[in-house]
Amino acid sequence: MSREKLGMPLNRVYETNREAVLQYIHSHNPVSQKDIANTVGLKQPTVSKIVRELINANIIEKKVLAEEKRSKGRPPEYLKITSKLLALAIRVARNKIISAYVDIDGNVYERTDHPLPSQRGANELINLLEKIIKNHQDEFSGQQGTLIGFGMAVPGPVNLKKGKIAKVTGRSDWSGLNLTKLENITELPFLIRHDAAAAAIGENLFGTTKGSSNNIFIAAGRGVGAGIITNGELVQGSQGYSGEFGHMSIEANGVECPCGNRGCIESYASINSLLRNLKGKLEESKSSYPFDELTFDSVVKQVKDSKEVNEAVKEAGYYLGVGIANLVNLFGPEIIVLGDEMVKLGDIWVDKVKKVIKERSLTQYCESLNIITSDLNDNFFLKGAGALAVEKFLRNSKVWLKNE
Ligand SMILES: [Zn+2]
Repeated sequence: MSREKLGMPLNRVYETNREAVLQYIHSHNPVSQKDIANTVGLKQPTVSKIVRELINANIIEKKVLAEEKRSKGRPPEYLKITSKLLALAIRVARNKIISAYVDIDGNVYERTDHPLPSQRGANELINLLEKIIKNHQDEFSGQQGTLIGFGMAVPGPVNLKKGKIAKVTGRSDWSGLNLTKLENITELPFLIRHDAAAAAIGENLFGTTKGSSNNIFIAAGRGVGAGIITNGELVQGSQGYSGEFGHMSIEANGVECPCGNRGCIESYASINSLLRNLKGKLEESKSSYPFDELTFDSVVKQVKDSKEVNEAVKEAGYYLGVGIANLVNLFGPEIIVLGDEMVKLGDIWVDKVKKVIKERSLTQYCESLNIITSDLNDNFFLKGAGALAVEKFLRNSKVWLKNE
């Protein structure tokens, strides 16, 4: 079947065909030229012309697969998106910023962690981000590849259309912060996503949920969020505000949350709420502090030895499990990934979350549900933000063909 469409100008037909070829290569990385012609429905000479153009624009490259090198004769060549296209990926968390280059295959290069003291306000956050981006751009060498854009994962809710952080619990001064101004510094395409959504994409493309079409990434750290993938698509909502799992109300008359609601998961299952709860328990029991300073790292060290710490960790796991059970009943995922800093609490927390999910979600869903934990290095936030930035670039041929 020909993709040529009646009534469409020829140059537009060609652009449509080129988009289809690039999209096919991107989603089936790597592919043979013959496969493209057969599947996309174009004649070989048209495919050859488009492939030549994409190679000249440094968008795709030829590759011989390792397993085919051993066979006799000339090995077949495959086409793939070049790993020389690099996105600058940044994760903004409440207590740190991490940055790195990410390629189309999910490789992370030159990761840098920047601590973010709690007293830093919105202006200081923007200044620090400007500095980080400028440093990366100044040090970027053409030998590394081509820097094609940057993707940023931020705590939400996030208005994707306006590029604004709507509200961040515990960082009220960041409310309404417009991050699109950073685009002016880089003059590169810019993309912003809710951090849990970026992590869900990162895991789905390169990590633990690869190959799964229905899965949920739970980002449980200073805040709580969820990246929900259903039927292979990220759930984004009409304005991009989806995934605000942390503000799902699970205690009808519970404590007030800075979002204005009551009984939100974040008020019971985040690191901040865990520390608050633990402080109360220690004061109530009048037992001496089992550590010099009440920080999350000290809690991680004491989780097995201190009765109060153990109880508070289990309570945080209980509330998270209740919330996730609701998600399981709503979306019927095949995999739940528990991610972000709370995973450092280890088996005591993970086992409690798993137990409550199983107790409180529908048996039919639970039987086939796989609950796993992500890596502790949190690179999946960067991989997702970077992959989305690369994809945005690939969809904008006006940018990459500007030198034609
Ligand atoms: Zn809330």
